[in-house]
Amino acid sequence: VRVTFTPIHRREFGITGTIAVLQDVTEQEKLEASRREFVANVSHELRTPLTTIKSYTEALDDGALDDPPLAARFVGVIQNETERMIRLVTDLLHLSRLDNKEALLRKQPTDVLEMLEDVSDRFSFQMQQKGILAEVRVEEGVQKAPFDRDQIDQVLDNLVSNALKYTPSGGSITMEAALTEGRLLAISVQDTGIGIPKKDLDRIFERFYRVDKARSRNMGGTGLGLSIAREIVLAHGGTISLQSELGQGTKVTFTLPLGDEGGSAS
Ligand code: ADP
Repeated sequence: VRVTFTPIHRREFGITGTIAVLQDVTEQEKLEASRREFVANVSHELRTPLTTIKSYTEALDDGALDDPPLAARFVGVIQNETERMIRLVTDLLHLSRLDNKEALLRKQPTDVLEMLEDVSDRFSFQMQQKGILAEVRVEEGVQKAPFDRDQIDQVLDNLVSNALKYTPSGGSITMEAALTEGRLLAISVQDTGIGIPKKDLDRIFERFYRVDKARSRNMGGTGLGLSIAREIVLAHGGTISLQSELGQGTKVTFTLPLGDEGGSAS
């Protein structure tokens, strides 16, 4: 709260009183602080790969080019870092479109089972390589629901790729869809991975918040996957929540309104 005092003057009596103005600035300051933090984060996230690219091109210039196997390794690093920056900028643009409400939702009645099976198929190669089992379960009665398939695919891709990143081989990933009492469709992605410590759970949907920065970066993460998922779900009028037990696994559940006729576009 900001307090401003203004004295009240009366010509003949001098100062006769004071006006105190109380202004709630906490909300505004919080917003400003989080904006500053966001800019600092983006700069840092871009600076790290740029510094790496700079030093590897310098090394190539300084003679590594004459050693073809070494040069090939350096070029590989430069490619990886460039791809990371492209992922980051793509995610940032997506978030900014969602923030500006520019991302128009194209809601269409969508077959939920087919969608989950398609996600599972998209990741089947990586899952097989890592020795992770995938399972899709759709409750009876869940058929079609109105949502933007491309956007919800993005949510599912983010959740499943996290599950895959943070689950050691031999684990499993389960995608489930069910109906809730309030005429909502609830979709969850559950893994048997490393889990998230209790102290981090409150902040996990924040932009760039990670439990372990180094690990996330090594896995190619941008730190924006869950924030993007959250914005998309909120734009659909749904909610998203995460339950996790350290060392046991994580379950992310999001809901989507079913619409008036339960199956037609709203
Ligand atoms: P990232 O690109 O780092 O994966 P996200 O926004 O998708 O960014 O996730 C934020 C952080 O939440 C991750 O860095 C990781 O620490 C944690 N996290 C997300 N999903 C899982 C999961 N399924 N299991 C364990 N930790 C997770």
